[in-house]
Amino acid sequence: MPRWLAEAVAVPAAAQAAVTPVLVLMSGQLSLVAVPANLLAGPAVAPATLLGFAAALIAPVWPEAAQVLVIPAGYAVGWIIMVARWAVNLPLATVPWPGGLAGLGLLALVAVGAALVLRRRVWRAVVLTVAGGALVAVLVLRPIAASWPPRAWLMVVCDVGQGDGMVIAAGPGQGVVVDAGPDPVMMDRCLRRLGITDVPLLILTHPHADHVDGLPGVFRGRRVGAVVVSPQHTATRHPSRLSADLSRRRVPQWTAHPGTRWRLGPSEVTVLAPDPTKGQSNGQGEGSAINNSSVVVHVRWRAGSALLSGDIETEAQRDLLRGPLPRADILKVPHHGSPRQDPAFFSAVGPRAALISVGADNDYGHPAQPTVAILHRLGAHVYRTDRSGDLAVVDHDGRLAVLTRGR
Ligand SMILES: [Zn+2]
Ligand SMILES: [Zn+2]
Repeated sequence: MPRWLAEAVAVPAAAQAAVTPVLVLMSGQLSLVAVPANLLAGPAVAPATLLGFAAALIAPVWPEAAQVLVIPAGYAVGWIIMVARWAVNLPLATVPWPGGLAGLGLLALVAVGAALVLRRRVWRAVVLTVAGGALVAVLVLRPIAASWPPRAWLMVVCDVGQGDGMVIAAGPGQGVVVDAGPDPVMMDRCLRRLGITDVPLLILTHPHADHVDGLPGVFRGRRVGAVVVSPQHTATRHPSRLSADLSRRRVPQWTAHPGTRWRLGPSEVTVLAPDPTKGQSNGQGEGSAINNSSVVVHVRWRAGSALLSGDIETEAQRDLLRGPLPRADILKVPHHGSPRQDPAFFSAVGPRAALISVGADNDYGHPAQPTVAILHRLGAHVYRTDRSGDLAVVDHDGRLAVLTRGR
């Protein structure tokens, strides 16, 4: 390989190599395409930046020239986007990497092996940079990352963007998963941070994409004991794909019935709704019938309780008010804090803390300001995943408290 080419390859590769250990340990994945993708995209970065900047500078005084300048800048940006799309869609673009000390040990072994095999100075420099990056990861990032999950966590609302994905503690390495969020990678990462390898129970509150599309992330390297679904599960087009997926994975599937109760580790989970023998409550909005069919569960711990309410809207909330509705210290606010809420439902539950799972700048305007205002008026402290990242419910001296991971 000519010297100039070796160096042209080595510089972006070294930059990528330096951050790789940090990325691997934070995400639990090793990207196999980062270096080639950076090499391909690299030549377009300078023209995109310089031409774009020049166009922005002269646009106020000479707009016609700026219009000409942005054309090649647009091509350069287009190339970078094309490379990025190609890279993420490649099969095996990322491979899972063990977390913790095992992952670090493996990384060190790979680095030593590579240093022995590679003779060229530039490549040895790359390997040394990897080792340096790993050291930073161990000495600086690991202690910071080690503060999560908090000790004695009982429930975590994962920051999965716009959607719901939650985990209820069910013993060491075990968690009941309630909804899987919209994205497998985000759901898998949250479970990995919590050290969950076994999911005795997976509850899918209702078959909307923001609650079920992250399903493959739950199954990634984990055993799932059984899946509980809402009666609406088989009634719509989308879930038939979901049902097929679940049967392919050979996981038993049950329809939720009010009164069903599981005791798992420190948690007792009871199904409150919906009642499949009663007709479903239609609402005015699109998807309201499915939202109102959400599986609602009450979770009890020694230190208190929580109500997880899926995406139920005003109609299903009123149905719940007719039955014996238990109070709860923590409310997972229905439907990402949408405006369709019954204040009487909130006050009947009487939560001290309200958890809203919501994506930043989402298209739905969730959470609605009036909804947040009602919760504040009732004296509930409102926590949001878009502002605070993962939210953990912990037992703090015999009383439930909420801790945030930060973004
Ligand atoms: Zn939803
Ligand atoms: Zn929904």
